Amino acid sequence: MQECYADVIVDITSEKLDRPFQYRIPEELRGRLEPGMVVEIPFGSGNRCIRGYVTGLTSHADYDPAKMKEIRAVVTDSSDAQSRLIGLAAWIRDRYGSTMIQALKTVLPVKRKVRGREKKTVYLELSAEEGREKLAFFEKKHQTARARLLAALLEEPVMPYELVTDKLNITAPVMKALQEQGIISVKREKIYRNPVAELSGEQTRVLLNEEQRAVAGAIIGEWEENPQGRYLLHGVTGSGKTEVYMELIAHAVSRGEQAIVLIPEIALTYQTVLRFYRRFGDRVSVINSRLSAGERYDQFERARQGELDVMIGPRSALFTPFPRLGIIVIDEEHEPAYQSELTPRYHAREVALQRGKMENARVVLGSATPSLEAYYGAQTGQYRLFTLNRRAKEAALPTVEVADLRQELREGNRSILSRRLQELMETELAGGHQVMLFLNRRGYAGFVSCRSCGYVVKCPHCDVSLSLHSNGKMICHYCGYSQPRVTKCPVCGSGFIRSFKAGTQQIEEEVKRRFPGYRVLRMDMDTTREKEGHGVILSAFANHEADILIGTQMIVKGHDFPEVTVMGVLAADLSLHVPDFRAAERTFQLLTQAAGRAGRAGAPGYVVIQTYDPEHFSIRAAARQDYPGFYRQEMRYRALAGYPPVGGMLAIHCACAQEELLQTACGYLKRFILKAAGSCPVSVLGPAPESVAKIQDIYRMVIYIKYEKMPVLTAIKNRIERYVAVNQGFQTVQIVYDMS
Ligand code: ADP
Ligand code: ZN
Ligand code: ZN
Repeated sequence: MQECYADVIVDITSEKLDRPFQYRIPEELRGRLEPGMVVEIPFGSGNRCIRGYVTGLTSHADYDPAKMKEIRAVVTDSSDAQSRLIGLAAWIRDRYGSTMIQALKTVLPVKRKVRGREKKTVYLELSAEEGREKLAFFEKKHQTARARLLAALLEEPVMPYELVTDKLNITAPVMKALQEQGIISVKREKIYRNPVAELSGEQTRVLLNEEQRAVAGAIIGEWEENPQGRYLLHGVTGSGKTEVYMELIAHAVSRGEQAIVLIPEIALTYQTVLRFYRRFGDRVSVINSRLSAGERYDQFERARQGELDVMIGPRSALFTPFPRLGIIVIDEEHEPAYQSELTPRYHAREVALQRGKMENARVVLGSATPSLEAYYGAQTGQYRLFTLNRRAKEAALPTVEVADLRQELREGNRSILSRRLQELMETELAGGHQVMLFLNRRGYAGFVSCRSCGYVVKCPHCDVSLSLHSNGKMICHYCGYSQPRVTKCPVCGSGFIRSFKAGTQQIEEEVKRRFPGYRVLRMDMDTTREKEGHGVILSAFANHEADILIGTQMIVKGHDFPEVTVMGVLAADLSLHVPDFRAAERTFQLLTQAAGRAGRAGAPGYVVIQTYDPEHFSIRAAARQDYPGFYRQEMRYRALAGYPPVGGMLAIHCACAQEELLQTACGYLKRFILKAAGSCPVSVLGPAPESVAKIQDIYRMVIYIKYEKMPVLTAIKNRIERYVAVNQGFQTVQIVYDMS
């Protein structure tokens, strides 16, 4: 049947109008429209002619077609940033699966009324000499927050207020106290002008070293001839990647082009932001998730009007509507946070590549532990690979040791802390240094392992670990296979085979018992629930208000604690056996990051990786800081199992309040998929319960489809979308697509 009606959205940025209106497609336009196109339509009682975006096409009318208005024309000349972003939304819709409206809302921020713009700025009111005296005084009194702010102001006497509160973690009472003492002042200004630029005349510009110059030179050298250039910069933390990015951005800016820099929110620290401010002044803006929708809209508006050259931020900064985008940088490109957890579940790396292609912008990915996707892309010629091998400032890498927990048990140590870790903690704490203990619980789902020999119970079909459920069954969250609980190790016969239970709280108790007299902080979901919990704990630790910090992955990302000399990874295996084909990759990344946390400022650092599986390649490679070695081994496994990046994988997550209905629907879905695939030999896994099988009384199941060619998966996904849209039985089933 021909599609005669189009859903058209008038203004996605307006809260009142962000729903589609149906229009009739005139004869001459039938078959020529596609979602994402811009059209001219009559609107409102006066039928004023305005522009709208097609979000969908259909063959049946929602109401009397005689009363329906008709589309006037297709707009083909729209080449502004907004219409390019709408094109990008159409691509996102197709690639990841969602409605066109969801996709449009992803790329275009909703306009909300913003109260009169008022920005606050912090000024230092002392001379440099007075300031230094005061600083020494604060330090002597251990007033670390005051000292930290003053030290920063001595370097940069005028700073945006939110930089001080957000990134320096200075609280309002501290600011107030300093204001009352006449040390600082806070001024409110109607229109925001970042004053930093005008004041940083004496900045010391870093001279790129030879390695960095080679990278920047190569990319700048082919700027013109290769506007869609794609690059991967593999460099250890501290090798100076950020300096390279800034050099490239400066080149773009000198040509009248703009730059987007994506940095995961958790790594968006004060120091990093300030470096960009110093180099690019008030032509830089930063967005983060704490901004309201209105404030974000405002920043995007400034970008669109040409007031900005550089936008820094997490994932969503990718949609900054720059008129002439020249380069997109994605730092820490391997971070899982770059994938959206909302529908459409887009991945910023892929969307950046697509935007670069549509707008002729270079894309630079950077990481110390590249994702397999990126490194594979570099091996297969999709990216040009550059490597930075040395730290820019001379700083020795820490000594990494692996502690075998099986051995500890055999020799009678039942503590969660290996003897070597205890020994290092004792000497380093006694020397006034700090210790971090990291419990690697990411995605942990109750796998069962033998404490004597390290054997892990796995699915015979999927090579992922089985999870133990409260009903005593062990289940595979990929294919649904289940078996009774194992009570005796099939390899060594030990009865000491069980799931790992220790949480951060138990660890805290044990640490307090063993190290009385030292101050312990714990950082996990429980202690960071309040909005500021996170920052408060981190700055307390940075201020040396505690000696030991215990926490989950939040503690290993993006923060520098120069006085930490010992990093203990308590059970490296925990993330190794999560039911996820990326488990080894995530483990390698987390261990490498954790290792980078110890011994930053002169004093030698020690890392102890505790594990039941010391021979595992991801643990060994992390201990050696050997990325290529890890990559080779992991790729063999991916190729064998047909997992990305060698093949494509589509996960279909289904959720429903009625368990039976969900199972029936998934059964139908699986049959439909097999039919849709036709003669294509796709492999379909599941349906299986998700690793969290029920959330707030909603049951959840997943089906995986693997196939080497992505377009086939996209086509199947599109057919599923149409199938479930017209099928009554799926009305109460919520479906989310996850393409990787
Ligand atoms: P990365 O982004 O790879 O972690 P950074 O760019 O943050 O590395 O550099 C780490 C530190 O080394 C920073 O303090 C930076 O100022 C310094 N640095 C980087 N490149 C140079 C250089 N060529 N000369 C001197 N210092 C440098
Ligand atoms: Zn065993
Ligand atoms: Zn399985």
